[in-house]
Order: sequence, then C-alpha cells, then structure tokens
Amino acid sequence: MAKFHVTRSGKTEPCGATVRACPLGGANHFGSLEEAVAYSLSPTFAKREVYTRVQSEARRMAENAAGRKLAADNVWIESSSSGVQGEYQVRYTVPKEEGFHIAQLPLFLDRDEFEDWESVKEERN
Ligand SMILES: [Zn+2]
Repeated sequence: MAKFHVTRSGKTEPCGATVRACPLGGANHFGSLEEAVAYSLSPTFAKREVYTRVQSEARRMAENAAGRKLAADNVWIESSSSGVQGEYQVRYTVPKEEGFHIAQLPLFLDRDEFEDWESVKEERN
C-alpha cells in the first residue's frame, strides 16, 4: 500500500522513503491521500506547526546565548514575571552543568501561540 506523508509546511505527497525511515516520522504518515489531506487541515497539524516554529526560535535564541549547539529537549519557554504582555523567557540547560539559564532577550508570543506550544510540549513529554 502506498504511503502518504504530510511535510512540515503542510504539503501532502507520496512518501518515497524505502531504504531508511522517513525523516518526517511515523505520526506524519497515512495509508491514503484523503487521510493525509485531512490531517494537514486539522487543528492538530496547525498546533504542531506553531510548536515547531516557536521551539526553533527559542532554540536559536538559547544557542546564541549559550554560544553552542543545544539539544531541542534542553530548551523550553516559560511565562515571564515582567508583566509585559506576550513576553516569555527562553530557558535552557547546558549538559553536565547544574541548573538552568535564561536567555537575555525575551521571546514575544501571543497567547494562542503559547498555548499551542504548551499543549504539544505536554504531548511529547
Ligand atoms: Zn515519508
């Protein structure tokens, strides 16, 4: 049976991976084109897209602050206590070091973006 996948940008196409596992991961593969299209239009997909965008921005900021590459699992965001609306803190841990660091620059998100990020983050934990 042909397999279809949904790319990160939401495109549906036949999966060409045969030798190695497809880098898009099992959750993005479907037995029919109709199922793949339905997923690409679903709120679940939209949330995951927001998560990926927010998480990669947070990771970029953390890596700038740390001056080194960091694993995705070592970077997260939390509400800021500054009282500035939409301001979040990017936090990260450095392997073999205790405690966490806070990136100097704040990350600005709207409430929906933060909630999408949070719900996908929880699914993954
Ligand atoms: Zn694939």
